[in-house]
Amino acid sequence: MSGPRILVVGAGPAGMALALQAHCLGASVRVIERRPLAFRPSRAMMLHARSLEILRPLGVVQALLARADTAPRMRLHVRGRDLDVGLSSFDLTDTAYPHLSLIRQAEVESVLADALAERGVPIERGVELHSFSEQPDGSARVCLRGAGESAATVDYLAGCDGADSTVRSLAAIPASERRYRQEVVLADIEVEGLAPDAAHVSAGAGGLVFAFPHGDLATWRLLATQPAGRAPIGEPVPPAQLQRLLDRAPLPARVTRVAWSSVVPLRHQLAAHYRRRHVFLAGDAAHVHSPAGGQGMNTGLQDAVNLGWKLAFAGGSTDPEALLDSYESERRPVARTTMALTDIAFWGESGLDPLAMLLRSVLVPLGAPLLSTVLSWRRMLAVGFRTLAELRIGYPDSPLSVEDGARRPGPVMAGERLPDAPVTIATGPARLHELTARAGVHLLLDRDAPDLDCLPDRVHAHRLLDRPGRGLVAVRPDGYVGLRAADGAAPSVRRWLALAGVDGAAHG
Ligand SMILES: Cc1cc2nc3c(=O)[nH]c(=O)nc-3n(C[C@H](O)[C@H](O)[C@H](O)COP(=O)(O)OP(=O)(O)OC[C@H]3O[C@@H](n4cnc5c(N)ncnc54)[C@H](O)[C@@H]3O)c2cc1C
Repeated sequence: MSGPRILVVGAGPAGMALALQAHCLGASVRVIERRPLAFRPSRAMMLHARSLEILRPLGVVQALLARADTAPRMRLHVRGRDLDVGLSSFDLTDTAYPHLSLIRQAEVESVLADALAERGVPIERGVELHSFSEQPDGSARVCLRGAGESAATVDYLAGCDGADSTVRSLAAIPASERRYRQEVVLADIEVEGLAPDAAHVSAGAGGLVFAFPHGDLATWRLLATQPAGRAPIGEPVPPAQLQRLLDRAPLPARVTRVAWSSVVPLRHQLAAHYRRRHVFLAGDAAHVHSPAGGQGMNTGLQDAVNLGWKLAFAGGSTDPEALLDSYESERRPVARTTMALTDIAFWGESGLDPLAMLLRSVLVPLGAPLLSTVLSWRRMLAVGFRTLAELRIGYPDSPLSVEDGARRPGPVMAGERLPDAPVTIATGPARLHELTARAGVHLLLDRDAPDLDCLPDRVHAHRLLDRPGRGLVAVRPDGYVGLRAADGAAPSVRRWLALAGVDGAAHG
């Protein structure tokens, strides 16, 4: 490989997705991971539609779906009433994945690690970043510690090393930090009394209790909130305390075996910057918030594929600084919004002030049955699903989002996610997301758009026979529209490709 040398620190979901994408696009990638063993108990359980979309070009989605529950059901226990909610088959035609996927984080990590191994990128386990220094030529000299000490020179350092990021500290990037007043109890347990055909959830005055039939080490994964400081961090939670959490919910379940348990303190943390010269932060190293809505891992995966292609292509860009800076300017605002939304949701689910407790114990139980008769649950859920699934995210203000000319109005603008849709190509009917399910930049040419010469092999052109006109849409490797041009021969096309680092005419 002759692409840039990238050291990814941390083999969590963000680090592995970043490594996979950058490698698929020609970078030379090393991944180091402090933990000697691959397995660790899962935290995330929910994988959202947008994550599946962005991972599709990396060839891992079939393996993820094979391990996921893609038609999950949730049973809400509300004051003696049970409401059954299906979290699949939403009426959304613009995604191939109109469902929530319940999958253990350990499975996501195993699929990503397998994909890296298949491509010849091993995860170097038991190796940690110790220090780094900047070199006069813009590279970084890193010092690694594992069985022994070693050094290497890299072009980019990607800090995907979690909430207590070493990379963030070594790069002296400050982070705002606030502890939540609640903590989470996680446990893998066997119980009597719960039907395993659904996940069960109850939010009483004391907080939220989830039971997913998807434990790592037993049938059920319990996730419950409680006031912080109730149990020592890092020590198993006594079975009687787990039973009290279920009784408090109340969920009709009796704990019969505890395979594993732990208490997780929660914090709200945002790095002041996502980039310092050749150092980048992604995933929990950049942002941490409550688990409400299952956003953390999903947001980290999106950071990863936003950054991976920029690192891989920056060397070929006419303005590498603008390309690399766009990572922070696109992704940090997303984290801020996600943190605000998850904070509100977490307050409602588990807040310890009288208003939050009243909301959960009186107002929701009274209102939910009424609401469900007046409004359709499915309609309410579909609206919430789009936001939670991160399908609404876009980068319209990014310097990489360019509108050129009065192209006929379309459903999508520069900076927006390319929605899935039926199209016609030379071989017959197809779907947009099938066409773009290959790593690289995709050019969607209108029927009469001119051909482009000298496209490098990471740019794929598709002529859409049912789209009249001479224009084109350039789709970035992370599935967002970069350029809409009314004329496929306009200078803006070559300019955009050159900025993205993939103009074969300029560099080939
Ligand atoms: C209770 C709970 C439930 C959650 N549920 C969901 C959910 O349903 N959906 C969701 O999207 N998110 C969820 N999350 C959040 C999700 O678990 C995290 O956002 C996710 O793990 C972050 O992934 P990451 O790759 O950024 O970091 P991490 O998973 O923290 O991985 C970082 C890795 O870096 C390694 N490392 C650290 N320092 C070094 C070093 N110096 N050198 C080498 N390696 C190093 C660590 O060992 C670790 O393996 C939940 C979180 C909690 C606490």
